[in-house]
Amino acid sequence: MSLDLIVRGATLPDGRKDIDIAARDGRIVAIERGIQAEAEVIVDASGRLASPPFVDCHFHMDATLSLGLPRLNQSGTLLEGIALWGELKPLLTHEAVAERALRYCDLAVSQGLLAVRSHVDVCDDRLVAVEALLDVRAKVKPYLDLQLVAFPQDGYFRSANAARNLERALDLGVEVVGGIPHFERTMAEGAASVAALCEIAAKRGLMIDLHCDESDDPLSRHIETLAFEATRLGLGVRATGSHLTSMHSMDNYYVSKLLPLIAESSVNVISNPLINITLQGRHDAYPRRRGLTRIAELRAHGVPVALGQDCVMDPWYGLGGADMLDVAHMAVHAVPMTSREAIAWTFDAVTEIPARVMGLEDYGLEIGAFADMVVLQAADPIEAVRLRATRLAVIRRGRIVARTPPKVTDLMIPERPETIDPASYAPRA
Ligand SMILES: [Zn+2]
Repeated sequence: MSLDLIVRGATLPDGRKDIDIAARDGRIVAIERGIQAEAEVIVDASGRLASPPFVDCHFHMDATLSLGLPRLNQSGTLLEGIALWGELKPLLTHEAVAERALRYCDLAVSQGLLAVRSHVDVCDDRLVAVEALLDVRAKVKPYLDLQLVAFPQDGYFRSANAARNLERALDLGVEVVGGIPHFERTMAEGAASVAALCEIAAKRGLMIDLHCDESDDPLSRHIETLAFEATRLGLGVRATGSHLTSMHSMDNYYVSKLLPLIAESSVNVISNPLINITLQGRHDAYPRRRGLTRIAELRAHGVPVALGQDCVMDPWYGLGGADMLDVAHMAVHAVPMTSREAIAWTFDAVTEIPARVMGLEDYGLEIGAFADMVVLQAADPIEAVRLRATRLAVIRRGRIVARTPPKVTDLMIPERPETIDPASYAPRA
């Protein structure tokens, strides 16, 4: 058997050790110990973790890398971010949006992030960002799956032509319906926008992913309407509520009723820890709320929860670097959730779970799946999160698309080790 690539001696996310993974014609053809075959390329994992690639199911690629254009967000709030983006929007050009997006995708690949769901603002009659990202989606297809959401940033009802432009974007090939009910003028209009957008998704047979209740307002309850409409229209797992930060502040009795309703609807939830911990609680004095949704409670009710990145160097967030392990690491701290089980779960929440939310086909480490993988300088998923581990090799369709040397430091202290590999400090299992 002639193979394109073999990863040798890997530890898998499920704990299996010393496993070889073989790829041919872009797909995984064997996962077992000691594969006896030749391959054009051998990747020696030497006991390190090999996992399916990272997936970011909540991002804004039309705004990424625009930090400082045309100015910085002084208050640090969501609302100033939206206003600032509104100042930049008329200045956007197809070339500039596409160039920033392509640069970001380079960075993403280097970090083993090979699938991104990006919202794209449709509240611009020119649809400049939509057309630019459709071009980018086609260009990056060989190395990164980009899924686009038609996002009426300024409100489906509140912004003059948003409804028409959203349909135009979907007609052009944008594949997911978006919305922002908490930004509509009233709670009633917010709820009506959820119903209208779910109807569009149902009619067109599309997925829907709403920015939902991204505020500290305990009475922002659009997730209730989303769960109801998803159930009524049979959207099920095709529907997703992003953020749900108001759940942090909601009345506990109401949440005890809401959680089973979300579970029953099969709606997915996406939390964006880097952004939620920085944008929420800004109107508080002290104590200051964290503002993340109730991840542990949602999980306990069987609701699929994925973690997204949301922003990298844009009007809402000045940091970030396409590192989904940063996102997982922040979730551990900001929720907080520090059990070994929960930390290991955060790794799934930036790989397997968002892949299901996005409906990615042939994803995962199994025979027949695409040969897409990351080899990390870490012994297991918990270590990967702890270290925000170096991506030693990134593999797409059985071909190495990015390599980074292991992080090893020379230490110049007498009678102490000469080199330090941070991954060698892992606790012995
Ligand atoms: Zn967002």
